[in-house]
Amino acid sequence: MKVYFKELTLSTNSRFEVIDITKEVEEAVRESGVKNGLCVIHAPHATVAIIANEAEPGLMKDYIDLIKELTRPDYEWRHNIIDNNAHAHLASAIIGSTRCIPVRNGRLERGTWQNIMLIELDGPRTMRRIIIEVIGEE
Ligand code: ZN
Repeated sequence: MKVYFKELTLSTNSRFEVIDITKEVEEAVRESGVKNGLCVIHAPHATVAIIANEAEPGLMKDYIDLIKELTRPDYEWRHNIIDNNAHAHLASAIIGSTRCIPVRNGRLERGTWQNIMLIELDGPRTMRRIIIEVIGEE
């Protein structure tokens, strides 16, 4: 069994941002040499999320609008007393910061409209990390 790790780093430019990382994830799957197994995409941060969905430009803005509506960044959350980003923690907690996708015949088994995206919830940040782990048989 092979266990392959790759770490991506990126910077974000605004408070909310959706970044498509599908190419990078698929590249990691190729590099891993794994034929059949799993690909875990994990952001080790409490204020970002990882989703697998459509990267249509309008929808990418809709994700952010919905997140704002659900987590109300201007609400008087308790956490905002010490760190003005409660909405980002809450959105990350609801959406999740890890996705796991099957790898079959050397390819990520994602749907046509399932791009892998990182959602920045408390930017801008100079460095966000994404851990990609590919596990399986070669
Ligand atoms: Zn915080």
